[in-house]
Amino acid sequence: MPPFKKYLFAPGPTPVPPEVALEMARPIVHHRTPEFSAVLDQARQRLKPLMGTEQEVLLLASSGTGAMEAAVANLLNPGDAAIYVNAGKFGERWGRILTAFGMAAHEVKVPWGNAVMPGQIEEALQEHPQARAVLIQASETSTTAVHPVREIAAITRRRDVLLIVDGITSVGVFEQKMDEWGIDALVTGSQKALMLPPGLGIAALSPRAWARAAKARSPRFYFDLNRELKAQRDEHTTAYTPAIGLIYGLNKSLEMIHSEGLPTVFARHRLMARAAQAAATALNLKLLAAENPAPGVTGMLVPDRIDGSRLVRYMRDVIGVTVQGGQDQMKGKLVRIGHMGYVAPLDILIAVGALEMALRREGYEFHSGAGVAAAQAEIASGA
Ligand SMILES: *Cc1c(COP(=O)(O)O)cnc(C)c1O
Repeated sequence: MPPFKKYLFAPGPTPVPPEVALEMARPIVHHRTPEFSAVLDQARQRLKPLMGTEQEVLLLASSGTGAMEAAVANLLNPGDAAIYVNAGKFGERWGRILTAFGMAAHEVKVPWGNAVMPGQIEEALQEHPQARAVLIQASETSTTAVHPVREIAAITRRRDVLLIVDGITSVGVFEQKMDEWGIDALVTGSQKALMLPPGLGIAALSPRAWARAAKARSPRFYFDLNRELKAQRDEHTTAYTPAIGLIYGLNKSLEMIHSEGLPTVFARHRLMARAAQAAATALNLKLLAAENPAPGVTGMLVPDRIDGSRLVRYMRDVIGVTVQGGQDQMKGKLVRIGHMGYVAPLDILIAVGALEMALRREGYEFHSGAGVAAAQAEIASGA
Protein backbone atom coordinates (compact mmCIF):
# COMPACT_ATOMS: atom_id res chain seq x y z
CA MET A 1 0.00 0.00 0.00
CA PRO A 2 1.41 3.42 -0.86
CA PRO A 3 2.06 5.66 2.13
CA PHE A 4 -0.98 7.67 3.23
CA LYS A 5 0.91 10.89 3.78
CA LYS A 6 4.11 11.89 2.05
CA TYR A 7 6.95 14.05 3.33
CA LEU A 8 9.38 15.86 1.07
CA PHE A 9 12.92 16.37 2.39
CA ALA A 10 14.68 16.76 -0.94
CA PRO A 11 17.20 19.58 -1.38
CA GLY A 12 14.82 20.81 -4.05
CA PRO A 13 12.07 20.84 -4.96
CA THR A 14 10.83 21.60 -1.47
CA PRO A 15 7.35 21.71 0.12
CA VAL A 16 5.01 24.58 -0.81
CA PRO A 17 3.02 26.19 2.03
CA PRO A 18 -0.79 26.10 1.66
CA GLU A 19 -0.90 29.92 1.69
CA VAL A 20 1.35 29.97 -1.37
CA ALA A 21 -0.52 27.17 -3.12
CA LEU A 22 -3.80 29.05 -2.62
CA GLU A 23 -2.29 32.26 -3.96
CA MET A 24 -1.25 30.40 -7.09
CA ALA A 25 -4.73 28.90 -7.49
CA ARG A 26 -6.25 32.33 -8.16
CA PRO A 27 -7.67 33.01 -11.62
CA ILE A 28 -4.91 34.04 -14.00
CA VAL A 29 -4.26 37.76 -14.30
CA HIS A 30 -3.02 39.24 -17.56
CA HIS A 31 0.61 40.30 -17.40
CA ARG A 32 0.18 43.63 -19.18
CA THR A 33 -1.97 45.12 -16.43
CA PRO A 34 -1.36 47.47 -13.51
CA GLU A 35 -2.53 44.67 -11.21
CA PHE A 36 0.24 42.31 -12.34
CA SER A 37 2.83 45.10 -12.42
CA ALA A 38 2.19 45.86 -8.75
CA VAL A 39 2.81 42.23 -7.78
CA LEU A 40 5.92 41.94 -9.97
CA ASP A 41 7.39 45.15 -8.54
CA GLN A 42 6.68 44.07 -4.97
CA ALA A 43 8.14 40.58 -5.43
CA ARG A 44 11.31 41.98 -7.04
CA GLN A 45 11.62 44.47 -4.20
CA ARG A 46 11.04 41.82 -1.53
CA LEU A 47 13.84 39.67 -2.97
CA LYS A 48 16.50 42.33 -2.43
CA PRO A 49 17.14 41.70 1.29
CA LEU A 50 17.45 37.95 0.66
CA MET A 51 20.19 38.65 -1.86
CA GLY A 52 21.74 41.53 0.03
CA THR A 53 21.44 43.94 -2.83
CA GLU A 54 19.98 47.28 -3.77
CA GLN A 55 20.37 46.37 -7.43
CA GLU A 56 17.49 45.36 -9.68
CA VAL A 57 16.42 41.73 -9.24
CA LEU A 58 15.13 40.14 -12.44
CA LEU A 59 12.72 37.23 -12.75
CA LEU A 60 12.98 34.72 -15.59
CA ALA A 61 10.63 31.91 -16.54
CA SER A 62 13.08 29.02 -16.25
CA SER A 63 14.55 26.68 -13.70
CA GLY A 64 17.61 27.86 -11.81
CA THR A 65 19.94 26.67 -14.55
CA GLY A 66 18.37 29.23 -16.89
CA ALA A 67 19.52 31.99 -14.56
CA MET A 68 23.01 30.40 -14.48
CA GLU A 69 23.08 30.39 -18.27
CA ALA A 70 21.84 33.99 -18.38
CA ALA A 71 24.74 35.06 -16.15
CA VAL A 72 27.29 33.41 -18.44
CA ALA A 73 25.75 34.59 -21.71
CA ASN A 74 25.39 38.19 -20.53
CA LEU A 75 28.71 38.65 -18.76
CA LEU A 76 31.26 36.80 -20.87
CA ASN A 77 32.21 36.76 -24.53
CA PRO A 78 33.12 33.74 -26.64
CA GLY A 79 36.83 33.11 -26.15
CA ASP A 80 36.93 34.76 -22.71
CA ALA A 81 38.75 32.85 -20.01
CA ALA A 82 36.86 32.06 -16.81
CA ILE A 83 37.69 30.13 -13.65
CA TYR A 84 35.07 27.87 -12.13
CA VAL A 85 35.05 25.84 -8.96
CA ASN A 86 34.15 22.22 -9.54
CA ALA A 87 33.40 20.79 -6.11
CA GLY A 88 30.37 18.79 -7.18
CA LYS A 89 27.60 18.43 -9.75
CA PHE A 90 26.58 22.07 -9.79
CA GLY A 91 30.11 23.40 -10.02
CA GLU A 92 30.63 21.03 -12.94
CA ARG A 93 27.55 22.59 -14.52
CA TRP A 94 29.24 26.02 -14.60
CA GLY A 95 32.02 24.43 -16.64
CA ARG A 96 29.56 22.90 -19.07
CA ILE A 97 27.71 26.16 -19.58
CA LEU A 98 30.96 28.05 -20.14
CA THR A 99 32.10 25.48 -22.69
CA ALA A 100 28.74 25.53 -24.47
CA PHE A 101 29.11 29.31 -24.95
CA GLY A 102 32.66 29.02 -26.26
CA MET A 103 34.56 30.35 -23.24
CA ALA A 104 37.89 28.96 -22.07
CA ALA A 105 36.81 27.27 -18.84
CA HIS A 106 39.57 26.73 -16.27
CA GLU A 107 38.59 24.35 -13.53
CA VAL A 108 39.56 24.53 -9.87
CA LYS A 109 38.84 20.99 -8.78
CA VAL A 110 37.92 20.37 -5.17
CA PRO A 111 37.29 16.95 -3.59
CA TRP A 112 33.61 16.26 -2.99
CA GLY A 113 32.56 17.46 0.44
CA ASN A 114 35.29 20.09 0.69
CA ALA A 115 35.03 23.83 0.34
CA VAL A 116 37.42 25.61 -2.02
CA MET A 117 40.16 27.54 -0.24
CA PRO A 118 40.42 31.23 -1.16
CA GLY A 119 44.14 30.65 -1.82
CA GLN A 120 43.19 28.27 -4.63
CA ILE A 121 41.29 31.09 -6.33
CA GLU A 122 44.30 33.43 -5.93
CA GLU A 123 46.51 30.79 -7.51
CA ALA A 124 44.12 30.15 -10.39
CA LEU A 125 43.96 33.88 -11.08
CA GLN A 126 47.75 34.07 -11.13
CA GLU A 127 47.90 31.12 -13.47
CA HIS A 128 45.20 32.58 -15.74
CA PRO A 129 45.64 36.35 -15.49
CA GLN A 130 43.40 36.81 -18.52
CA ALA A 131 40.41 35.31 -16.64
CA ARG A 132 37.42 37.63 -16.64
CA ALA A 133 35.25 35.85 -14.11
CA VAL A 134 35.17 33.35 -11.26
CA LEU A 135 32.10 31.13 -11.04
CA ILE A 136 31.10 29.26 -7.91
CA GLN A 137 28.23 27.90 -5.81
CA ALA A 138 27.54 29.51 -2.44
CA SER A 139 26.29 26.10 -1.36
CA GLU A 140 27.18 23.03 -3.46
CA THR A 141 23.97 21.07 -3.00
CA SER A 142 25.35 17.80 -4.40
CA THR A 143 27.96 17.54 -1.64
CA THR A 144 26.24 19.73 1.03
CA ALA A 145 29.35 21.94 1.40
CA VAL A 146 29.39 25.74 1.68
CA HIS A 147 32.08 27.76 -0.12
CA PRO A 148 33.68 30.91 1.40
CA VAL A 149 32.08 33.32 -1.05
CA ARG A 150 32.78 36.38 1.05
CA GLU A 151 36.53 35.69 1.14
CA ILE A 152 36.57 34.97 -2.57
CA ALA A 153 34.72 38.21 -3.28
CA ALA A 154 37.48 40.03 -1.39
CA ILE A 155 39.89 38.64 -4.01
CA THR A 156 37.83 39.27 -7.16
CA ARG A 157 36.63 42.76 -6.23
CA ARG A 158 40.24 44.04 -6.26
CA ARG A 159 40.62 42.93 -9.88
CA ASP A 160 38.71 43.29 -13.13
CA VAL A 161 37.25 39.85 -12.48
CA LEU A 162 33.56 39.26 -11.94
CA LEU A 163 32.36 36.91 -9.22
CA ILE A 164 29.36 34.93 -10.45
CA VAL A 165 27.59 33.03 -7.68
CA ASP A 166 25.00 30.27 -7.89
CA GLY A 167 22.94 30.98 -4.79
CA ILE A 168 20.29 28.39 -5.53
CA THR A 169 20.46 26.73 -2.10
CA SER A 170 21.74 29.76 -0.21
CA VAL A 171 19.46 32.71 -1.03
CA GLY A 172 16.79 32.58 1.69
CA VAL A 173 18.78 29.98 3.66
CA PHE A 174 21.72 32.01 4.95
CA GLU A 175 23.04 35.52 4.60
CA GLN A 176 24.10 36.67 1.13
CA LYS A 177 25.48 40.20 1.17
CA MET A 178 25.88 40.71 -2.53
CA ASP A 179 26.58 44.47 -2.48
CA GLU A 180 28.65 44.54 0.70
CA TRP A 181 30.85 41.55 -0.18
CA GLY A 182 31.19 42.40 -3.86
CA ILE A 183 29.35 39.58 -5.62
CA ASP A 184 28.79 40.58 -9.26
CA ALA A 185 26.05 38.17 -10.23
CA LEU A 186 23.86 36.24 -7.83
CA VAL A 187 21.34 33.77 -9.23
CA THR A 188 18.74 31.55 -7.65
CA GLY A 189 15.62 29.54 -8.45
CA SER A 190 12.14 29.21 -7.03
CA GLN A 191 12.01 25.61 -5.81
CA LYS A 192 14.50 25.58 -2.95
CA ALA A 193 14.34 28.08 -0.08
CA LEU A 194 11.66 30.23 -1.70
CA MET A 195 8.97 27.62 -1.01
CA LEU A 196 7.64 27.51 -4.57
CA PRO A 197 7.33 24.99 -7.36
CA PRO A 198 10.13 25.08 -9.93
CA GLY A 199 9.89 27.49 -12.83
CA LEU A 200 11.41 30.83 -11.81
CA GLY A 201 15.02 31.83 -12.34
CA ILE A 202 16.17 34.90 -10.43
CA ALA A 203 19.22 37.05 -11.10
CA ALA A 204 20.81 40.27 -9.82
CA LEU A 205 23.91 41.99 -11.23
CA SER A 206 26.34 44.50 -9.74
CA PRO A 207 26.95 47.85 -11.48
CA ARG A 208 30.22 46.60 -12.97
CA ALA A 209 28.45 43.46 -14.18
CA TRP A 210 25.81 45.61 -15.87
CA ALA A 211 28.60 47.52 -17.59
CA ARG A 212 29.92 44.19 -18.92
CA ALA A 213 26.43 43.09 -19.94
CA ALA A 214 26.01 46.24 -22.02
CA LYS A 215 28.96 45.16 -24.18
CA ALA A 216 28.62 41.36 -24.08
CA ARG A 217 28.77 39.65 -27.47
CA SER A 218 27.61 36.12 -26.63
CA PRO A 219 24.59 34.93 -28.58
CA ARG A 220 21.43 35.21 -26.53
CA PHE A 221 17.80 36.00 -27.13
CA TYR A 222 15.42 34.82 -24.42
CA PHE A 223 17.96 35.31 -21.63
CA ASP A 224 18.94 38.85 -22.63
CA LEU A 225 19.25 40.57 -19.26
CA ASN A 226 19.50 44.07 -20.74
CA ARG A 227 16.17 43.60 -22.38
CA GLU A 228 14.68 42.16 -19.18
CA LEU A 229 16.05 45.07 -17.18
CA LYS A 230 14.32 47.58 -19.43
CA ALA A 231 11.07 45.62 -19.30
CA GLN A 232 11.02 44.90 -15.57
CA ARG A 233 12.47 48.15 -14.25
CA ASP A 234 11.04 50.66 -16.72
CA GLU A 235 7.85 49.02 -17.99
CA HIS A 236 6.96 47.03 -14.85
CA THR A 237 6.38 43.87 -16.80
CA THR A 238 8.55 41.15 -18.33
CA ALA A 239 9.88 41.03 -21.88
CA TYR A 240 7.96 37.83 -22.63
CA THR A 241 5.02 36.11 -20.94
CA PRO A 242 6.10 35.55 -17.34
CA ALA A 243 5.29 32.62 -15.08
CA ILE A 244 2.38 34.66 -13.73
CA GLY A 245 1.13 32.18 -11.15
CA LEU A 246 4.59 31.58 -9.77
CA ILE A 247 5.19 35.31 -9.42
CA TYR A 248 1.99 35.66 -7.39
CA GLY A 249 3.17 32.70 -5.30
CA LEU A 250 6.61 34.27 -4.91
CA ASN A 251 5.16 37.51 -3.67
CA LYS A 252 3.19 35.53 -1.07
CA SER A 253 6.14 33.37 0.02
CA LEU A 254 8.31 36.49 0.37
CA GLU A 255 5.60 38.10 2.48
CA MET A 256 5.76 35.02 4.74
CA ILE A 257 9.56 35.14 4.86
CA HIS A 258 9.60 38.81 5.82
CA SER A 259 6.88 38.40 8.39
CA GLU A 260 8.89 35.60 10.04
CA GLY A 261 11.89 37.95 9.73
CA LEU A 262 15.04 37.14 7.79
CA PRO A 263 17.28 36.68 10.86
CA THR A 264 14.72 34.21 12.25
CA VAL A 265 14.53 32.39 8.92
CA PHE A 266 18.31 32.03 8.86
CA ALA A 267 18.37 30.90 12.52
CA ARG A 268 15.68 28.30 11.79
CA HIS A 269 17.78 26.85 8.97
CA ARG A 270 20.88 26.77 11.17
CA LEU A 271 18.93 25.01 13.91
CA MET A 272 17.54 22.38 11.51
CA ALA A 273 21.05 21.75 10.20
CA ARG A 274 22.40 21.39 13.75
CA ALA A 275 19.59 18.96 14.60
CA ALA A 276 20.31 16.83 11.52
CA GLN A 277 24.05 16.94 12.20
CA ALA A 278 23.53 15.92 15.84
CA ALA A 279 21.41 12.99 14.68
CA ALA A 280 24.17 11.89 12.29
CA THR A 281 26.74 12.00 15.09
CA ALA A 282 24.48 10.03 17.42
CA LEU A 283 23.95 7.40 14.72
CA ASN A 284 27.67 7.25 14.04
CA LEU A 285 27.21 8.47 10.47
CA LYS A 286 29.89 10.79 9.08
CA LEU A 287 28.98 14.01 7.31
CA LEU A 288 30.29 14.34 3.76
CA ALA A 289 30.93 18.04 4.35
CA ALA A 290 32.09 17.85 7.96
CA GLU A 291 34.11 21.11 7.85
CA ASN A 292 31.62 23.38 6.11
CA PRO A 293 28.17 21.78 6.22
CA ALA A 294 25.34 23.64 4.50
CA PRO A 295 22.48 25.08 6.54
CA GLY A 296 19.95 23.94 3.91
CA VAL A 297 20.86 20.31 3.38
CA THR A 298 22.69 17.67 5.41
CA GLY A 299 24.68 14.92 3.70
CA MET A 300 25.34 11.77 5.72
CA LEU A 301 27.62 9.02 4.48
CA VAL A 302 26.00 5.61 4.37
CA PRO A 303 28.02 2.90 6.19
CA ASP A 304 30.07 0.71 3.85
CA ARG A 305 28.00 -2.46 3.89
CA ILE A 306 24.73 -0.66 3.27
CA ASP A 307 23.21 0.08 -0.13
CA GLY A 308 22.27 3.74 0.11
CA SER A 309 20.08 3.62 -2.99
CA ARG A 310 17.93 0.89 -1.48
CA LEU A 311 17.77 2.82 1.78
CA VAL A 312 16.50 5.94 0.06
CA ARG A 313 14.04 3.94 -2.04
CA TYR A 314 12.58 2.25 1.04
CA MET A 315 12.16 5.59 2.78
CA ARG A 316 10.36 7.06 -0.22
CA ASP A 317 8.26 4.17 -1.50
CA VAL A 318 7.40 2.29 1.68
CA ILE A 319 7.30 4.87 4.45
CA GLY A 320 6.64 7.98 2.37
CA VAL A 321 9.66 10.10 3.26
CA THR A 322 11.57 11.50 0.31
CA VAL A 323 15.22 12.26 0.91
CA GLN A 324 17.87 12.23 -1.77
CA GLY A 325 20.83 9.95 -2.33
CA GLY A 326 24.18 10.84 -3.83
CA GLN A 327 25.04 11.55 -7.45
CA ASP A 328 27.91 10.21 -9.57
CA GLN A 329 30.70 8.83 -7.35
CA MET A 330 28.48 9.23 -4.29
CA LYS A 331 25.67 7.13 -5.74
CA GLY A 332 24.51 4.68 -3.08
CA LYS A 333 26.90 6.17 -0.53
CA LEU A 334 25.16 9.31 0.62
CA VAL A 335 21.83 10.36 2.09
CA ARG A 336 20.93 14.01 1.71
CA ILE A 337 18.20 15.43 3.91
CA GLY A 338 17.00 18.77 2.61
CA HIS A 339 15.74 21.26 5.19
CA MET A 340 15.08 24.38 3.20
CA GLY A 341 12.08 26.64 2.93
CA TYR A 342 8.79 25.39 4.33
CA VAL A 343 10.38 23.02 6.83
CA ALA A 344 10.24 23.39 10.62
CA PRO A 345 12.71 22.04 13.18
CA LEU A 346 10.26 19.36 14.38
CA ASP A 347 10.05 18.03 10.82
CA ILE A 348 13.65 16.91 11.24
CA LEU A 349 12.40 14.32 13.74
CA ILE A 350 10.34 12.71 10.98
CA ALA A 351 13.26 12.63 8.57
CA VAL A 352 15.62 11.20 11.18
CA GLY A 353 13.03 8.75 12.50
CA ALA A 354 12.46 7.46 8.99
CA LEU A 355 16.19 7.21 8.40
CA GLU A 356 16.53 5.13 11.56
CA MET A 357 13.79 2.77 10.36
CA ALA A 358 15.57 2.32 7.05
CA LEU A 359 18.96 1.79 8.71
CA ARG A 360 17.53 -0.82 11.07
CA ARG A 361 15.97 -2.64 8.14
CA GLU A 362 19.42 -2.76 6.52
CA GLY A 363 20.85 -4.38 9.65
CA TYR A 364 22.83 -1.34 10.83
CA GLU A 365 23.49 -1.46 14.55
CA PHE A 366 22.70 1.53 16.71
CA HIS A 367 20.65 2.50 19.74
CA SER A 368 17.12 2.78 18.49
CA GLY A 369 15.97 6.38 18.76
CA ALA A 370 19.46 7.76 19.33
CA GLY A 371 19.31 10.00 16.27
CA VAL A 372 15.84 11.27 17.08
CA ALA A 373 16.84 11.96 20.70
CA ALA A 374 19.91 13.92 19.61
CA ALA A 375 17.85 15.98 17.18
CA GLN A 376 15.25 16.62 19.88
CA ALA A 377 17.91 17.82 22.30
CA GLU A 378 19.33 20.17 19.71
CA ILE A 379 15.92 21.57 18.83
CA ALA A 380 15.06 22.02 22.51
CA SER A 381 18.31 23.90 23.11
CA GLY A 382 17.59 26.23 20.22
CA ALA A 383 13.89 26.73 20.86
C1 LIG B 1 18.98 22.86 -7.60
C2 LIG B 1 20.26 23.55 -7.94
C3 LIG B 1 20.54 23.96 -9.25
C4 LIG B 1 19.71 23.56 -10.41
O1 LIG B 1 18.66 24.27 -10.62
P1 LIG B 1 17.51 23.79 -11.60
O2 LIG B 1 16.40 24.58 -11.03
O3 LIG B 1 17.35 22.31 -11.45
O4 LIG B 1 17.88 24.20 -12.95
C5 LIG B 1 21.71 24.66 -9.48
N1 LIG B 1 22.58 24.91 -8.51
C6 LIG B 1 22.36 24.51 -7.25
C7 LIG B 1 23.39 24.81 -6.21
C8 LIG B 1 21.19 23.81 -6.93
O5 LIG B 1 20.98 23.39 -5.67
